[in-house]
Amino acid sequence: MLPPRTKALRSPALLLALAAACTAKDGPAPSPDIPATQDIQTTDLALDLAALSGTATVVVRPAAGAVTLDVAGLTVTRVTVDGEDAALDIVDGTLSVPADADTVSVAVDYTFPARGPAMFDGWMPALGVSFVWPYACSNLFPCNPSLEDGLVFTMSVSGVDEGLTAIYPSSTHGDGPTYMAAVAVGDYTRLDLGSTSAGTALYAWYLPGTNAAARAARGTAHLVAAFDYFEQTYGAYNFGPEAGTIEVDWGSDSWGGMEHHPYFHVGTFDFDDEEAQVHEAGHGWFGDGVRLACWEDFVLSEGTTTYIAARALEQVDGPSEWAYYVDDFLVPICEGTQPNDPTLVNTIVLPDTCNEIDFENDAVWSLTTYMKGACFYEDVGDLIGPDELDLVIAEFYAAHVGTAARMEDMITLLKARAPSHADAIDALVSDWLLSYACPEDYVERCRSHTP
Ligand SMILES: [Zn+2]
Repeated sequence: MLPPRTKALRSPALLLALAAACTAKDGPAPSPDIPATQDIQTTDLALDLAALSGTATVVVRPAAGAVTLDVAGLTVTRVTVDGEDAALDIVDGTLSVPADADTVSVAVDYTFPARGPAMFDGWMPALGVSFVWPYACSNLFPCNPSLEDGLVFTMSVSGVDEGLTAIYPSSTHGDGPTYMAAVAVGDYTRLDLGSTSAGTALYAWYLPGTNAAARAARGTAHLVAAFDYFEQTYGAYNFGPEAGTIEVDWGSDSWGGMEHHPYFHVGTFDFDDEEAQVHEAGHGWFGDGVRLACWEDFVLSEGTTTYIAARALEQVDGPSEWAYYVDDFLVPICEGTQPNDPTLVNTIVLPDTCNEIDFENDAVWSLTTYMKGACFYEDVGDLIGPDELDLVIAEFYAAHVGTAARMEDMITLLKARAPSHADAIDALVSDWLLSYACPEDYVERCRSHTP
């Protein structure tokens, strides 16, 4: 996820939209009722966007003699278990189905509501896009919103207006977080960007608009090279043989993007921005490829991704992003010059709890986590060498891809692979991740980056 990044422009409408997105209370909170030992393996989503109905076929290992699914935003009409009708046992938005086999297939027929842009959590026909991050999956399909339970999605979408194209993965191939699934519908033109040296084919889909083709070309100028850098440096892409970026219209809030791999979404205003494009691609490795264990580990997704996006762009002769990161975001955060902007409020970015913060309303969900996290890695690179840092990030990815991990695991590995710098790494952890105040010399330390 990349929250709206307003650059030089800032309008009250944009702030209002952001505030609505940040504080929407109509979406379901994560259900505490789903046992951690339950394991969803695959979810097949057949969505009819005209009828606002779907069938989700969930292949799952039950826990405690039942399958438990969050259906809080749905109207469930029928449930079968391995083809046999089951009772509709729904309490407080949670569906329970008795099941004691090792693995069962639970098929749920349901309808889902059309959501408005102000609510921003589910299928939004006015924008032609779905969005269920961080844990609003049950506005679109039966799910477990827990970060721990990764799964493979297969999807099919019908009920699309003639002349429009629905873009979604027929399969996500590897385990990813529940919030990864999405569909975008629009009058799309596809741009073939070419393939990486590992053979991953990359595409861009853009909407009609002024200079749309040129903006798409500008934003994706180094996308194949950066994706190739990720594959060659950090490890194989986990979400199939094809990936791409989809321009999405999020209304007045069309900044940033969302890591819906393999077809990630980038907002119209940022579609010509190389950093936004490579950032969302980078989530294929961190955030999606390696999932978060706790919302408090948000920096493992956003800090790591912000760093590797700048690293990849720099290594493939793209633009340097460090002055942009520091001047546009870190300075207002550290100087407290934008106190009314929730994306630029300072905070400690690595709280020591696990899934105890109210993430949607916590300052951890802000650009502070992105920028302090990126500067942490930048400083570690200065300390141990950026190539050595790449090797540690690659080892971490290999060990955790397809599973959930914690930022603490990354810090432990960094110190294990650079033992002579362990104390200095601890000091950087303290400076950037565990302190409210920014380091005194933060501008110099993070902005003056030497490749
Ligand atoms: Zn992100």
